[in-house]
Amino acid sequence: MLGIYLHIPYCKTLCPYCDFVKERSRTHVPDAFVAAVCQEIGAFEGPRQAESVFFGGGTPSMLSEAGLEAILEALHRRFDLAGAEITLEANPDDVTDDLVQHWHRAGINRVSLGVQSFEEKVLRYLGRRHDANSARRACDIVGNRFDTWSLDLIFGAPPVEAWAATLDEAVAIGPPHLSAYNLTYEVGTPFEKRADQAIPDDIALQMFREAEERLVGFDHYEISNYAKPGHQSRHNLIYWRNEDYAGFGTGAYSYIDGVRARNAVTTDEYLRNPGEKTEAEAIDDNATRLETLIQHFRLEVGMEKDYYQQRFGHPVEEDYGTVLNELYDRGLLAQDASRIWPTPEGFYLNNEIGLAIIQ
Ligand code: SF4
Repeated sequence: MLGIYLHIPYCKTLCPYCDFVKERSRTHVPDAFVAAVCQEIGAFEGPRQAESVFFGGGTPSMLSEAGLEAILEALHRRFDLAGAEITLEANPDDVTDDLVQHWHRAGINRVSLGVQSFEEKVLRYLGRRHDANSARRACDIVGNRFDTWSLDLIFGAPPVEAWAATLDEAVAIGPPHLSAYNLTYEVGTPFEKRADQAIPDDIALQMFREAEERLVGFDHYEISNYAKPGHQSRHNLIYWRNEDYAGFGTGAYSYIDGVRARNAVTTDEYLRNPGEKTEAEAIDDNATRLETLIQHFRLEVGMEKDYYQQRFGHPVEEDYGTVLNELYDRGLLAQDASRIWPTPEGFYLNNEIGLAIIQ
């Protein structure tokens, strides 16, 4: 089973903290881009059965109705999507009743709404084009139409005191899924120059814990993700289990049969030859085992020992027994007869687990 990722690299305004592949467009996603993605999907050589589709970006909610339908048709021609989770990321400003009804009719069955905050000052600091009221309105419209959807938040932007109120409002709205990512000041973004405004690690940890305390009724199933029963992101679980996915569109990564490859990172180049891989790297067995282990320990449930045995042909202890024992002793991992999982401490200090396994 495969995950399918589509990168739609257009945004009406560019947020200064963002380091995704994107460019500015004032209107809909250009037809030439839609045609290129359809061409790339049609030419794909690989599995037919897909577990999930994720329209990410950029801003997929800028796809015209005809553009979205054309891409979905191309996907249905090339893949078997029976029972697949099909997610579209949306900017609250783009959400209208009519558009959301169209997404639903077209076959989207999950929306991921980039709310980020319900505090105006935070939204302005982040340079978002929507305000808190348009976020509330968008939640209302999406929540009325979709059984499963995600409300996506960012923490760490000033004023940090607003975080509690944003969490409480999110709980009151009651989405089935919620993500909460820490703001980062990435090199190469306008925020790089503001890196001195980043909150200290202890405050970030405090905000992380505050999310866990306030998001009552949600299962904290991955470091940055919360879900009500039955609403975990099936697409993201593919990444966290280090399983195969195919990426289409500008700069999209694919990981299939041990090869990680990437499309051209500028849309001009992508349009000249859709699907041509500008980077490709064969991931050897050692690296695959390492990545599989580290990714699984982002999940509250961790990893089934049988999963490792079946995927790699021998027990996990044969490869990592010494470091696993060290991590049990440090209280970052726990185990029983069938499973290994991060303790609450291992959840908060997750990069310590990764560092220990890599060394
Ligand atoms: S955060 Fe989203 S909307 Fe903002 S520039 Fe990046 S991709 Fe575009």
